Amino acid sequence: MLVFEAKLQGQNEQYRKLDEAIRTARFVRNSCLRYWMDNRGIGRYELSAYCKVLRDSFEWCKKLSAQACQASAQRAWSSIARFYDNCKKGKPGKKGYPQFKKEQTQGSVEYKVDGWKLSEDRRYITFRDGFNAGTFKMWGTRDLHFYQMKQFKRVRVVRRADGYYVQFCIDQERREEREPTFKTIGIDVGLNHFYTDSDGNTVPNPRHLRKSEKSLKRLSRRMSKTQKGSKNRTKFRNKLARKHLKVSRQRKDFAIKTARCVVKSNDLVAYEDLKVRNMVRNRHLAKSISDAAWTQFRQWVEYFGKVFGVVTVAVPPHYTSQNCSNCGQVVKKTLSTRTHTCTKCGHVQDRDHNAARNILEKGLSTVGHIGTNASGENDLCARGGNSSK
Ligand SMILES: [Zn+2]
Repeated sequence: MLVFEAKLQGQNEQYRKLDEAIRTARFVRNSCLRYWMDNRGIGRYELSAYCKVLRDSFEWCKKLSAQACQASAQRAWSSIARFYDNCKKGKPGKKGYPQFKKEQTQGSVEYKVDGWKLSEDRRYITFRDGFNAGTFKMWGTRDLHFYQMKQFKRVRVVRRADGYYVQFCIDQERREEREPTFKTIGIDVGLNHFYTDSDGNTVPNPRHLRKSEKSLKRLSRRMSKTQKGSKNRTKFRNKLARKHLKVSRQRKDFAIKTARCVVKSNDLVAYEDLKVRNMVRNRHLAKSISDAAWTQFRQWVEYFGKVFGVVTVAVPPHYTSQNCSNCGQVVKKTLSTRTHTCTKCGHVQDRDHNAARNILEKGLSTVGHIGTNASGENDLCARGGNSSK
C-alpha cells in the first residue's frame, strides 16, 4: 500500500464542511465504541450493522457517505481488536482499552471509493457526499497519473494544526531494484550517537526537539498567561501545535532518510528489539529517547527492508552490550562505562561499537535458524519458546 499526501486548498466555507464531516466520522466511531461497551462480545459485523441504525436514527449522519460510515465503524473495531490482541498476547502493562476520541485539532475522516472524485488532470479533488465540501486544489501531490483509478482504495482527509490534507492509499506494492552489496550491518542505537554500526561508524543525534525546546517552552508559558477561552489563547494554542508539527516532521524526515540509506547499502540489517515504552519511564533518559525516535526509525528500516528486499532482523536486546564481541566473555558494565575492555582476551573497543558487533552476530545466527525475514517480533518470540512456529 502506497500513501500519497497533498495539502488541500479551498475556501473557509469549504473547510467548515470538512470539519463537519470529520466530526460526524468521530461521532460514528465513538457511537460504535459505546455500542460495543454496552454489548460486550459483539464483533465487527454487528458494528457494521449498527452503522445503519445510526444512519436511520440521525438524519445528519446520512450526510456522510455509507462507505465512510463503515470506515469509521472499522476504525472503532480496529482499536477494539488491538485491545483484544494485547490481552491475548499477555502484553505487560496497559492493554490499551479503547478510548473515545475527543474533539481536538487533529482529526480525520476516511472515504473509500465513493464520495470524492479527482479531476481529469488529477490536480483537483471534489468531495460530493452529503457535506458537499466542493472542489479543492491539491498542493504537493506526487504524480497520481501513474496509478489507475481502481487502485485508489481509500481517501482520507486529515486536519492538522496548519491546515487540511488529503491522503490517497493506493493499492500497489512498492518494490525497488537494488544491487546486492554483500554487506551486513548491526546497529546499536544510543544517546551519544543516533546509532553506531558494527563497522564503528556513527550517525550523530539530531536534537530537533532540544533545539526547538526553548521556543516551545516560551510559547507554552505565554499561552498559560492568556485567559481561558479567549481568542488569544486559541492563537497561541495553534502556534504551539504548529511548532510541534514541525518537530515531528523533521523527526520523520530524518528517520526516513537514515533508514533508507542503511537498508540500501546492506544485504542484512540487524538491530535490537528494544521496548522503548519501558525505557521512556526512566525520567532522565526519557526526553532524549523519545526525541531520537528510534521506534520510528525501526519502522522505516522494516518498511524499506520490504521495498528493497533486504533482510531485517530484530534481535533480543539481552547482553548485547555486556558480552565481548571478540570472545563472548560477559563483561559487566554500567551505563557510564563507555569503553569495553575484555577481562579474558583483552579486547578493547568502544562500548557501542562492541554492542553493534554483537547485534550483527545475533542477527546472522537468527537468520540462520529461521531462514526467513524476521522483521516481526513474533518470529523472535517463536525462537525463544516454540521453534516450530
Ligand atoms: Zn574478549
